[in-house]
Amino acid sequence: MKIKTIITGAAGRMGKQVASALMQESDIQLVGGVDLKKENINIISGQTDSSLQVTTDLRALIAKTHPHVLIDFTHPASVMNNVRIALENGVRCVVGTTGLSASDSDAIRSFCQMNEIGAVIAPNFAIGAVLLMKFAQIASRHFDKAEIIEMHHDKKVDAPSGTALKTAEFMGHRDPAAEEETAVSLESQSARGERIGGIRIHSVRLPGLVAHHEVIFGASGETLTIRHDSLSRESFMPGVILAVREVMKLDRAVFGLDVLLDI
Ligand code: NAD
Repeated sequence: MKIKTIITGAAGRMGKQVASALMQESDIQLVGGVDLKKENINIISGQTDSSLQVTTDLRALIAKTHPHVLIDFTHPASVMNNVRIALENGVRCVVGTTGLSASDSDAIRSFCQMNEIGAVIAPNFAIGAVLLMKFAQIASRHFDKAEIIEMHHDKKVDAPSGTALKTAEFMGHRDPAAEEETAVSLESQSARGERIGGIRIHSVRLPGLVAHHEVIFGASGETLTIRHDSLSRESFMPGVILAVREVMKLDRAVFGLDVLLDI
């Protein structure tokens, strides 16, 4: 049985990349796409050149195609509505959209638990980015002070990035008193990034970038830098495909690719 899949945000940067990646998988069947921009998308995937029909009506697409999985790469303002429609119709969700609030995540968690339905929500589907979070978690046990720099293309709507927030979560809450022992005067604190869980996060937005994260640890006489670069959106595809397969086995919501990779 093939895993019947639909994409919300199909006409976007990630949506198009995901569509062409899915076409190469023999156990996954892409049965439709949804986007606010209704356009049929030409997908060039390996030797195959095909077209994906895009509609604006998610409910109608679900009723027509009976998909097993919805993949969402849309916008922080749209994602929850799409996920709610999918889950209420028994469609499992793989969510890559970032910028979900804590209450959104809680709502997904409890709906999935109550209805024993699977969902995977991950701010970063690149394997290397998941390893960066894990390495940062290990290093943070040995360094009191660290800051995160995240760099993305200038069309990204949320800041700090979901990956930077998740990395800070992995690193655990840090002592704010220790963090504030810097020589910077109070008046110029806005230049010091946003403090999340006691960790400063700096967000850079420039054309030419894709998704880049750097965690810098500092101690007396040494620094340690851990860095991951997504140089193209292809870097996210193995993680998305893994999530599509794994979500079929889940009866709850899982937050982060690290859980599926067991790292
Ligand atoms: P994009 O702007 O290129 O594409 C988003 C698409 O969603 C657009 O075509 C838009 O028309 C569509 N859209 C918006 N609301 C919609 C709705 N209600 N229904 C259907 N379609 C809708 O953005 P992008 O660069 O593809 O990124 C999308 C999201 O994915 C962002 O939140 C980004 O941060 C995130 N992202 C996550 C990962 C990851 O690994 N998890 C990687 C890259 C990007």
